[in-house]
Amino acid sequence: MAQRDDEATPPPGRWSTQQRAVLRVLHGARGFATVHDLYLELVHDGSSVSLATVYRTVRLLVASGAVEAVHGDRGSTAYRIASTGGSRLSLRCVRCGDVEPVSRDVVEEWARATAACHGFVDVGMVADLRGLCAACGP
Ligand SMILES: [Zn+2]
Repeated sequence: MAQRDDEATPPPGRWSTQQRAVLRVLHGARGFATVHDLYLELVHDGSSVSLATVYRTVRLLVASGAVEAVHGDRGSTAYRIASTGGSRLSLRCVRCGDVEPVSRDVVEEWARATAACHGFVDVGMVADLRGLCAACGP
């Protein structure tokens, strides 16, 4: 169950300049970013891209399968590079929709052992932990 997130990187030339820029930001985003996060990061990097263009670009990337959407319970949507079989684990706030990638070592170990018990190999996993973030909690 090797980590294969890097394999989601498209071959050079497949994407438009804007798509490559969005993919680059997502790769550096430690897992998740909203369209607004992407827009701010692109502008910070000196891009003159519009928010509407970022929305359109992200939609195209999602349609292509290179990027996947993670929907929060309150209508928020975060995006991440789509995995090609590796494991992902996130912690999501059910109130504000904040999404944090978290360490998956323990869960990967459990998944590997559980899969092996059933004769499965090369098992990928997608898991979301839900709760209240530090800002929303009691
Ligand atoms: Zn929250």
